Amino acid sequence: MDEIKSIPFRKSLQAKLLITVSLVILVICTTAYLVIPYLMELIIIDASLANTRGITDIASSSISSGLYFEDNESVTNTMQNVLVYDEARRIALYDFNKKKFAELRKTSYNGKKENILIENNNTVKLDGYIVSSKGVYHNDTLIGYLVVYTTLENIYASITQFRNAILLFSLCVFGLGNLAIILGFRPIVGRIKTMMKVVEKITLGKYTERVTVSGQDEIRYLADSFNRMVDSVVQAYNNIAYTNSNLEYIVEQRTSALNEEISVRKVTEKELLFARDKAEEANRTKSAFLASMSHELRTPLNSIIGFSQILREDKNIDVQNRVYVEMMYKSGSHLLDLINEILDISKIEAGQLELHEENSYLADIIESVRLILMTKASEKNLLLIVRADQQCPISILTDARRLKQVLINLVGNAVKFTKHGQVQLLVDFISKNSEDSSTQLKFTVKDTGPGIPDHQIERIFQPFKQQATHYSEGTGLGLAISARIIEKMGGKITVTSEIGVGSEFSFILSIKTIDFGNEHSRNNNEKRIKSVIHKSPPPKILVVDDVEANRLLLTSLLEMIGFDCYEAENGRDAIQKALAVHPQIIFMDLMMPEMTGKEAIKKLNEYEELLTIPVIAVTADVLTESEEDLLRLGFKEVINKPFRIEQIHEVLLRSYSCDYIFEDDTIEDASRVSENDLNAGQIAQHLQILPNNLLRELNEAIVLQELDVITEIIKSNFPDNLEIQKSFSRVIKAAETYDYKFFIKLSDEMNPD
Ligand code: ADP
Repeated sequence: MDEIKSIPFRKSLQAKLLITVSLVILVICTTAYLVIPYLMELIIIDASLANTRGITDIASSSISSGLYFEDNESVTNTMQNVLVYDEARRIALYDFNKKKFAELRKTSYNGKKENILIENNNTVKLDGYIVSSKGVYHNDTLIGYLVVYTTLENIYASITQFRNAILLFSLCVFGLGNLAIILGFRPIVGRIKTMMKVVEKITLGKYTERVTVSGQDEIRYLADSFNRMVDSVVQAYNNIAYTNSNLEYIVEQRTSALNEEISVRKVTEKELLFARDKAEEANRTKSAFLASMSHELRTPLNSIIGFSQILREDKNIDVQNRVYVEMMYKSGSHLLDLINEILDISKIEAGQLELHEENSYLADIIESVRLILMTKASEKNLLLIVRADQQCPISILTDARRLKQVLINLVGNAVKFTKHGQVQLLVDFISKNSEDSSTQLKFTVKDTGPGIPDHQIERIFQPFKQQATHYSEGTGLGLAISARIIEKMGGKITVTSEIGVGSEFSFILSIKTIDFGNEHSRNNNEKRIKSVIHKSPPPKILVVDDVEANRLLLTSLLEMIGFDCYEAENGRDAIQKALAVHPQIIFMDLMMPEMTGKEAIKKLNEYEELLTIPVIAVTADVLTESEEDLLRLGFKEVINKPFRIEQIHEVLLRSYSCDYIFEDDTIEDASRVSENDLNAGQIAQHLQILPNNLLRELNEAIVLQELDVITEIIKSNFPDNLEIQKSFSRVIKAAETYDYKFFIKLSDEMNPD
């Protein structure tokens, strides 16, 4: 309410209306005051002109005979008759020469300009008079002129009166208009103020207040609309208030439910943590079980496979026993495959599958697959075709062991399930990426076997699953393992198959290609030694293992080809025997009582005189021992139990340089033997042919034992001279076999200070 009081009058609606109405009245009245009298004056003067002209016309004809006969009396009479007319003030008669003949005027005549208008037929307004002149004719002859003056005085007086009346009327209208506005507005303002009061009350929270306004005008409608609006606002407010109170209730409910849930979750979390601990515990137990199972099974298997291999070689054995031995060997190997597969799948499941890339020959990989499955295929009269595209790289950087494992599984399955026809292993070149020097190769294994129904394809890649309707020999693990290995290598095994026609398993890998330079380093890995050529006494080998059967197996194998074997039962025993015997090679088991193999090699390395002896780790613990760690400890090579005779022979060839006779009765090629015979001093001399900067680089790499750099420098500068070639080959071989001791010696020779 205070607001409406505080509005200044000049800004109020009333003032605005008053000003507007006043202005409108002013404009109308002013127009009426100025225009209407003016128009009236024009009309009335026009009428007076006509009137005066008429009087003059009549008078001129009446006066003509008086003038003609110069009858003054008649002239005067006529002129007096004219002056009877109220407005007439003066009348004058002129002769033909415009000389005044007679004149009559009233006293009220006060005209100044006389005799100025003596013409025939002219009427004008002049100085407050209308002057009309007319010729006087006698028998159509102009004999004189009559001029009549009528006054405009009365007309002007009437017009002034009229103007005053308009002015008075305007003032009345103005006053009444404003009065009407003031009086008419008062109730409107009153009603607005009433509304404002109600609004004020509602603002203060009195939501039941409503505006009551009488009448049927707009304010009434405004009040009604306002009341309806307040109703809706109150309704909405009530709804919100209800929702709010309801919300509070809901929030309360939810909070208590949430608290309940939190406590349940806490319990569940505890249970989960407990379950997780249990699962981890179980996992650890499983890993420990697998490790010990693998170790425990490998140890006897080593004897079974090893001795059955020895017996297979025995020429004196009869046919029946040969069959038994063969079965023993196959069963042992099968059992070993089984153990390896179970270990692989548990490694995969634990996410521990790791790839160890190494420089390999593609041809070696596929050839070894062929060699392994060739016999089985020919036993079944199957044609085994192994072919690599001409464009395929020769040397690649890959985990050759795992790639071989996958190919053996795929080709093995193809051979196992195919009854007639052929099995093919194809390697196709797809593309080359020169940026990262990698090549895309497609490996395909095709067979003409029974085929696999589409709906079984997903199943056969699951661990321990075979085709639902066909039971076959095997664990059902091969494809699951292969698929994960190829995935890890960046590919995916895909299968297309047609029942009764055959199956095709393929995958594409992007493999790094490397250049080994010459073929010198290529392993001739399947050579079987028949005997070692030696001057007496024969070379000595120390076999260290706590299990007698294992010692017996190795010593039998080595003695068969002419080595003199010594045995030790643990690490401590091995050190004493090594110091006493000075063997050429030591084969050392790792898990032994009293002193383990790892502790033993550390001790051995403390003896200067034993430093040059290559120590080969022979371990059944393939799960927990990493080959890299063992090599770092000082072992020259690592052999896993059970081993094949060929593996032992390969190690001998790499670790001990002397002349060997092989199964095919040939002596290892001269260059190889003489390479090994070379001493570090000679090699250091031969290396001097390298340019100074390269020699410096090589020397540094030898001191730091950077085998990759050494190999690269030597291979890219391979000499033509045969004699020097031998030294270079020896260095490459030493690098490839991680012969660190050789490089220590070579470094001493190259840097005598
Ligand atoms: P396993 O051969 O030890 O049973 P795999 O995982 O290697 O295990 O193979 C799973 C199954 O897939 C096989 O048992 C066989 O039913 C089916 N299978 C695999 N390769 C072929 C093939 N070339 N032809 C027909 N069936 C095959």
